[in-house]
Amino acid sequence: MVHFVGAGSGAADLITMRGARLLGEADVIIYAGSLVNPELLDYAREGAELHDSARLTLEEVVDIIRDAEARGKTTVRLHTGDPSVYGAVREQFDALDRLGVEYDVCPGVSSFCGAAASLKAEYTLPDVSQTVIISRMEGRTPVPEREKIRALAAHQSTMVLFLSAGLLEGLQRELMAGGYAPDTPAAIVYKATWPDEKVLRCRVSELAETARANGVSKTALILVGAFLGDHYERSKLYDPAFSTGFREAKP
Ligand code: SAH
Repeated sequence: MVHFVGAGSGAADLITMRGARLLGEADVIIYAGSLVNPELLDYAREGAELHDSARLTLEEVVDIIRDAEARGKTTVRLHTGDPSVYGAVREQFDALDRLGVEYDVCPGVSSFCGAAASLKAEYTLPDVSQTVIISRMEGRTPVPEREKIRALAAHQSTMVLFLSAGLLEGLQRELMAGGYAPDTPAAIVYKATWPDEKVLRCRVSELAETARANGVSKTALILVGAFLGDHYERSKLYDPAFSTGFREAKP
C-alpha cells in the first residue's frame, strides 16, 4: 500500500494528523527533499527506510515502491504542500495503476494557503475578487497558449503564481501587459511558514526589484491583486440586515 501525503507548506506541525500518523507507520518513505522540511522525518519510526526523491527519476521512484510492495511494506510518498498542486503525482498514480499497486492520497496545506496565512490575507474579498487563479510562468514546462499570464491577467482576479520567482522581470511585464495597473498591490512570500520565511509587499511593477533586493529567486509564491489593498465590501454572510439558513435578519 502506498499513501501519497501532503507535507504542508513548511512548518512541521502543519502536516495533517492523518499525514503524521501515516508517516509514523510507514516502512518506506520517499520524500521530496528539495522542499519538504526535514523535521517532518522526525515523525518516521525508528528504522524506516528513507529516500530523497530530489535525486530520483519517476522510474526510480516506482522501482522503490515496487520493491517495497514485493516485501509487503507500506510506503509513504511525501510531497510538499498539497500533492494536487504541481505535485507530478498523476504520472505516479498511473504507473501504480499499471502495476496494480493500491494507493490513496492524504491532502496537505498547500503553500498558497500558507502564504495567505503569513500575509493575514483573504483571497476572495467581496467586491474585489471572487476568483483565485493559480498559475505559473512558462519555464521548461510549457504552459498552454490560452493560459499565458497575459491572458489570465485580463480577469484582474486574485492571482497566485507558483514556480516563477526566478522569472519576475517577465512576470511583471506580462501581468501589466494583461491589464493589471503597475501600482496593483503584490507580495512575494518566500518559504511561507518556514522559520526563515520572508513576506515582502510591493506593487506589480516592483516585483523583480523587490525580489532582487531581498535575495529571493526560488521557493517563493507571487501574489497579485487588489485583495492585498485596503478596499472591500463587508460580507453578506455576517451582515445583520441579511437572513441566512441559520439566522434571521435583525430589524
Ligand atoms: N505542491 C506544492 C507546490 C509544489 S511546486 C504546494 O501545494 O505548495 C513548488 C513551488 O511551490 C515552488 O517553486 C514555490 O513556488 C512554491 N512553494 C512551495 N512551498 C513554498 C513555501 N513554503 N513558500 C512559498 N512558496 C512555496
